Amino acid sequence: MLTLSELCSPAFVRELMARHGIAPRREFGQNFLINPAIPRRIAEAAVGGEADVNVLEIGPGIGTMTTELSRLAGKVAAVEIDRALIPVLAETLDGCENVAVINRDIMKCSLPELTREAFGDEDYRVCANLPYYITSPIIMKLLEEGGERLRSVTVMIQTEVASRLTASPGTQDYGSITAAVAYYGTAKKLFTVSPGSFLPAPKVTSTVIKIELYRPGERPVTAKDEKTLFRVISSAFGQRRKTLPNALSAGMPELSKDAAVSLVTSLGYDERIRGEALGIGDFARIADAITAETAEK
Ligand code: SAM
Repeated sequence: MLTLSELCSPAFVRELMARHGIAPRREFGQNFLINPAIPRRIAEAAVGGEADVNVLEIGPGIGTMTTELSRLAGKVAAVEIDRALIPVLAETLDGCENVAVINRDIMKCSLPELTREAFGDEDYRVCANLPYYITSPIIMKLLEEGGERLRSVTVMIQTEVASRLTASPGTQDYGSITAAVAYYGTAKKLFTVSPGSFLPAPKVTSTVIKIELYRPGERPVTAKDEKTLFRVISSAFGQRRKTLPNALSAGMPELSKDAAVSLVTSLGYDERIRGEALGIGDFARIADAITAETAEK
C-alpha cells in the first residue's frame, strides 16, 4: 500500500500520470494535493474521531485523501467523474478494502440512491477537495438531496466562497447561499490552504469548511413550503440594491409591489429594509406569510 507521503510527492504524481498517459484536466478542476498535512487534517475533521463512520468523497483524483479516509473511516464511497483516473485509483487504492470507487458525475447522481447503495440505512458524511468550477452547485445538491442521514459536509473550497458560506447577515459576503446553508445547518471555517499545497497550483487560496447538519427535528427554522422559502431568498438577493418589497415583487411575479409592501410591513419590517439584513428565520416568516396568502386565494 502506498503511503500518504509517497502519494503527495510531486515526482511520484508526475510519474504516475505519465505512466497512465494523462495530465491534470482543468475542465474537471483537477488540482491534486501534494502536502500530506492537508489531506490528513481534512479527513480527520470529517471523521471527527468517531468509529465506523461512512464517508462519501467527491472527486478522489489520484486517491490522496481517499487513503486517509480509508484509514480513519468505516466505509468510503468515492465518486470520480474522470474515467481516465479509474485505473490510477485501482493502483493507488490497492489494499484499501473499505473503499468503493464509482465512476460518475456527482451532479447526475441521485444522492439518496447512491448513499443507500453504499451505506444502507446508516448515516454518512461528505468529505472532499471540491473542484472549484462547480463548488456551489455541489454544496446546494448535498443540502437539498443529502437527506436526514447526511451528518456533515467537510470540504475544501475557494476562500472567497468559504467566506460567503459562513458570512453573517448584514455583511457584504452574506448572500442567498449563506441563507440556504443556515437553513440546513451551521457552517464554520476550519483552516486555509495556500496554492503551493497543490499540483498544479491554483490561482487562489483555499479554505476548509465544515457544515454540521441539523438532526431531524432539531432545525431551528422550518418553512411551511421550502420551495417558496428558496424563491424568497433568491428574489431577495437577486436584486441586492433594491428594497426587500421591490426585490420580492421583481423575483415573484405573483406578488405585486403593493402586496409585497403590505406583507413586509404587516410582519413588522420597515418597507425600506433590504434582504441582506435578514436572517434565515426572517426569510421563513416571509415565505410562510406568502404560502398562507396563496393558500387563501
Ligand atoms: N481529492 C483529490 C485531491 O485532493 O488531490 C482531487 C481533488 S480535485 C480539486 C477535484 C476532483 O474532482 C478531480 O479528481 C476531478 O476529476 C473530480 N471531479 C470534478 N467534477 C466532478 C464531478 N462533477 N463529479 C465527480 N467528480 C468530479
